[in-house]
Amino acid sequence: MRLILLGPPGAGKGTQAKVLMDANNIPQLSTGDMLRAAVKAETPVGLKAKDIMARGDLVPDAVVNQIVADRIDMADCARGFILDGFPRTVAQAEALDSLLAERGLALDAVVELQVDEEALAARVENRAAESGGEVRADDTVEALRHRLKVYREQTAPLIDHYRATGKLVSVDGMQAIDDVSAQIADILASEGSQAQVAG
Ligand code: AMP
Repeated sequence: MRLILLGPPGAGKGTQAKVLMDANNIPQLSTGDMLRAAVKAETPVGLKAKDIMARGDLVPDAVVNQIVADRIDMADCARGFILDGFPRTVAQAEALDSLLAERGLALDAVVELQVDEEALAARVENRAAESGGEVRADDTVEALRHRLKVYREQTAPLIDHYRATGKLVSVDGMQAIDDVSAQIADILASEGSQAQVAG
């Protein structure tokens, strides 16, 4: 199963990706996690990405496209994967389309987590409080506001891109975590059975 989780920062993509990973035994591919690892290890990509990420801006498309292309070719992705935080621009979505087409692969679904943006700031504040001090450089209310703006301007257009493919499904991400997971599981199960019926 190949899925994309789409939604603004703080919508719960990472949380739902982990649930889907455990349920389906396929890896979560979080470009944010991969970039944070690169920053920590001070690789050339990490050095380039560090300040951009701290500001809440997007790392250049070419950089993330390459990271994802390399990752998708690894053995653990053979049965599928969950993309969490990628694509984030129309150019990235187009790069992903070609990357998959070249490999004869297709997406099963793009799951959009719909959230109330005002409530997200409160979630981020809680996340900062719960982590007991050590927070991500971009996990402040100011950085979140900027990341939400970047999402609206650069990532939200992907909703139409994927709606046009018929793969988009939207879920109310403001529900309790378990309810969101259950709804996603139901949708994927019914899509799977429809695909079987369709042959
Ligand atoms: P995330 O953990 O998904 O919220 O990502 C954290 C930060 O990493 C983002 O604010 C961006 O600076 C960078 N990043 C992650 N994924 C991408 C992407 N697909 N394109 C560009 N930048 C990204």
